[in-house]
Amino acid sequence: MSAELLEGAPIAEQIKQDVREAIGRMASPPKLTAILATDNKGAAFYAKAQAKACEEVGIQYELVEMGAEVGQAEVEAKIAQLNDDGSVTGIILLMPVPEGVDARACQRSIDPQKDVDGVHPANLGAVVQGSTTLAPCTAQAVFELAKASGVALFDDPMESAGKGLEVCVVGHSEIVGKPSALLLLDKFCTITVCHIGTQDLKAHTTSADLLVVAVGKAGLVKGEHIKPGAVVIDVGINRIKGEDGKTKTVGDVVFDEAVQIASKITPVPGGVGTVTTAMLLKNVIDAAELQAG
Ligand code: NAP
Repeated sequence: MSAELLEGAPIAEQIKQDVREAIGRMASPPKLTAILATDNKGAAFYAKAQAKACEEVGIQYELVEMGAEVGQAEVEAKIAQLNDDGSVTGIILLMPVPEGVDARACQRSIDPQKDVDGVHPANLGAVVQGSTTLAPCTAQAVFELAKASGVALFDDPMESAGKGLEVCVVGHSEIVGKPSALLLLDKFCTITVCHIGTQDLKAHTTSADLLVVAVGKAGLVKGEHIKPGAVVIDVGINRIKGEDGKTKTVGDVVFDEAVQIASKITPVPGGVGTVTTAMLLKNVIDAAELQAG
C-alpha cells in the first residue's frame, strides 16, 4: 500500500480565501503584532513566515523586537500597551522568551480577545466546551486535516453511537496534544493520549484509526506503530542531517515506513505546518470579529 498524501495546501488556500473575503468586508484591515524577545533564529524565522502570510491576505503585521535581555516587567508592560491599543487586533508572544521571563504569566496577561495564538487560559478553557474560536492554531490544523481525511467525526451523539473513531494522540503539550485531543473528543472520538510516561506506546498507536503525533522526536513513530489503513497526522518538526550531509526537515513519523502502512499521511513539510499558519490568519479575523462585538 502507498498512502495518499494529506496535503495542507488546499485547506490553507481555502482558509486564506475566507480570510481575504472577511477583510474585504471590514472598514480597515486587522493588525497582528508579534513580540520577539529572543535571539533564537527559529523564532525570527517564524516571525518572517508570519509576516509573509499576513501580507498575502492583507493583514498588517508588526514585529516588536525587545531583545534577549528583556525582563518580565518590560514584556508585560508592552503587552498591556498592546492590549490597550485599539489599532492592534492580535498579539503573539514568540517563543522562547529569555530565562527569567515567565512565559505563562506573559500569556495570561494578553487580552483573551487578542490572543490569536490561543494560549490564554480562557481560550484553552473554551476548547473544553468545543469552541475553535481562538483555539491554538496547530490543534485547529490537526482538526481540519482530520476532517479533510474523511475519518468518521460526528456532531450528533445518537449518530455516533457505537461508531466513534479510535484516536491516539502522542504528545500532551498544552498547545498541541491536549487541545487536539479535546477537539476530536467533541466529535465523539475515543481518545488515548500518550506521553513520556506511557508504558507501551505501540499497544496504543496500533489500535488507532487516526494517529496524531506531536512530540518533536524524529523517528519516534515507525511503521510497526501504525495500524494498517490508519490516517496519520504528523505534527513534529525536526531538523536532522540527511545521508547526503545536508540538513532537512522531518516529522516524528518515519515517513518511508508509514507510507507503506497508512491510508493517508500528512507530509512534513507541507502538512500540519501549512494549515497552522493559515489558522493564525483565521484567528486574527475571529479576534477582530470578537472585538467588534
Ligand atoms: P512540547 O511542548 O515539547 O511537547 C512534546 C510532547 O511530547 C510532550 O507532551 C512530551 O511529554 C511528549 N513526549 C516526549 N517524549 C515522548 C515519547 N518518547 N513518547 C511520547 N511522548 C513523548 O512540543 P509541542 O509544542 O507540542 O510540539 C511538538 C512537535 O510539534 C515539535 O516537533 C514542534 O516543533 C512541532 N510543532 C509543529 C507545529 C506545526 O505547525 N507543524 C506547531 C507546533 C509544534 P512530557 O511533557 O511528558 O515529556
